[in-house]
Amino acid sequence: MLELTAFELAQKIHAKEISAREAAEVANTRVEKVEGDINAFVTTTPDIATERAERVDERLKNGGSDSVNLWETVPLVVKDVLSTKGTRTTCGSKILEDFTPVYNATALEKFGEDLIMVGKANMDEFAMGSSTENSAYGPTKNPWDLSRVPGGSSGGSAAAVAAGEGWWALGTDTGGSVRQPGAFCGMVGLKPTYGRVSRYGLVAFASSLDQIGPMTRDVRDSALLLQAISGHDPNDSTSAKVEVPDYLSELENGVSGLRVGVVTELMNAEGVEPEVRAITEKTARDLEEAGADVGEVSLPHATYGLPAYYIIAPAELSSNLARFDGVRYGHRATASGVHEMYRRTREEGFGDEAKRRIMLGTYALSSGYYDAYYAQAQKVRTKIVDDFRSAFRDFDILISPTCPTAAFEIGDKVNDPLAMYANDICAVPASLAGVPAISIPGGLSDGLPVGVQLMSDHFTEPTLLRAAHAAERASEFRFEMKP
Ligand code: GLN
Repeated sequence: MLELTAFELAQKIHAKEISAREAAEVANTRVEKVEGDINAFVTTTPDIATERAERVDERLKNGGSDSVNLWETVPLVVKDVLSTKGTRTTCGSKILEDFTPVYNATALEKFGEDLIMVGKANMDEFAMGSSTENSAYGPTKNPWDLSRVPGGSSGGSAAAVAAGEGWWALGTDTGGSVRQPGAFCGMVGLKPTYGRVSRYGLVAFASSLDQIGPMTRDVRDSALLLQAISGHDPNDSTSAKVEVPDYLSELENGVSGLRVGVVTELMNAEGVEPEVRAITEKTARDLEEAGADVGEVSLPHATYGLPAYYIIAPAELSSNLARFDGVRYGHRATASGVHEMYRRTREEGFGDEAKRRIMLGTYALSSGYYDAYYAQAQKVRTKIVDDFRSAFRDFDILISPTCPTAAFEIGDKVNDPLAMYANDICAVPASLAGVPAISIPGGLSDGLPVGVQLMSDHFTEPTLLRAAHAAERASEFRFEMKP
């Protein structure tokens, strides 16, 4: 059962060949077996999974398969930055160690009351990081090689699915956090168009960039999970009032006539290893053989995305994290006066990376520096938006590496923030432009998975998924449970 895709499992549950309860128990058992090695979860919820799975089975029995959406039947791993009613939500931070939300994120509400949740997945604190080492709950290990990071910030979600602790997961992506851990763990990671999925109940990091996205074993699962979570939400004014397409129906239509551009600047970005470049080129050739028109495309300002992102994201974060003051949420330090209480609460509750970024962001927004940093970064962001706009006049799909390398060693970059940030160079342009981007496993380098990134224009996920599906089919890589 653990080797099935979520889609396959859902079909079997719909057909009553397997019960949801059996699936939940298989996941719970697997968690017990491997969690000691992987540490993919901050909180596991085996009883919730089993109880709710029983209710799903009950509904299937009474109402038949039409009464339960396919996606409701498969146990889900939930990144610990998504609010879960009645289950603690730490965001990987000590400051929220005992915080239990009173409502569910909208993306989770789409599963109804019986969301079969395996647990809350480990992550870099408040989603800041690319390795899951910035978690207050210990690092997550990469199931492909336990001495390596799973990527971040959704490293727990990626590792859990790669290790068979669940069939699929929700992560969040602000500057690559679904795509990069997806790449490092041999998973498919999709960042939808900004506005496609409601951010209500997603604890905010950088509000102009954050999106919730599926982390799955293949592209079909990605389409199904996106189907579940998409759509306008009156509780999030940045969620778009656009129709939700049927992501699965076009999946098999192939890429004949699709125009695919290989992004020159990202292929040659700093640190991109030759093997990674070769695997990306191979994916482009596969698409060409499948009937796409493949050429080269330039995003002239793409590599300036990295410094712009590392101003904009901390600036927004410094404001968003101001709410953690010991009064409204989470940890509260004991102190004699209110100012001392604020100071100690934040000193005790936040980790080093959170503190670093709060300072960077506050500095970039402060009077006298605002124009030089924040405003300048916003201008760069506009340039990147324009680059994409003109690229999409000639191309339907853009292709690049997801990140410069395969998974690095635990401890390698954690004391060198700039080296850690540099890993995001290929991922942040799509975030700044708000366009959808997917990472699929392109192949192996020294036995480790390498991700290839496909990007498309706003709200064209059906085309993006169709191209990703064709590339996946052509590649030799197939999901394999590890370790
Ligand atoms: N690695 C990036 C950062 O640390 C992206 C994180 C994310 O997408 N949440 O900001």
